Amino acid sequence: MGENGGMLALVRLRRGVVGESRRVCHLIPVPGAGAVPSRLTALCGESIFPGEAEVLDGLRGMPCHACLMESAPPGPGLLADAG
Ligand SMILES: [Zn+2]
Repeated sequence: MGENGGMLALVRLRRGVVGESRRVCHLIPVPGAGAVPSRLTALCGESIFPGEAEVLDGLRGMPCHACLMESAPPGPGLLADAG
């Protein structure tokens, strides 16, 4: 769940679009029904083109660290602010 209660989708770039090392699972806020943007933006800021990505029904492989950090609820003890 996003911080605003919106749905998040797990999306991974397709094989061949990027190198294997970059095929991590990004978290993407699900756009509103009826509006399919030509480009999605993952929580980490990565631009995802729908045709280049596959939606996952669960976490597969390596999650995007930056996306996980963005989706993690703020709170003490979870992360130190490293600046
Ligand atoms: Zn990401």
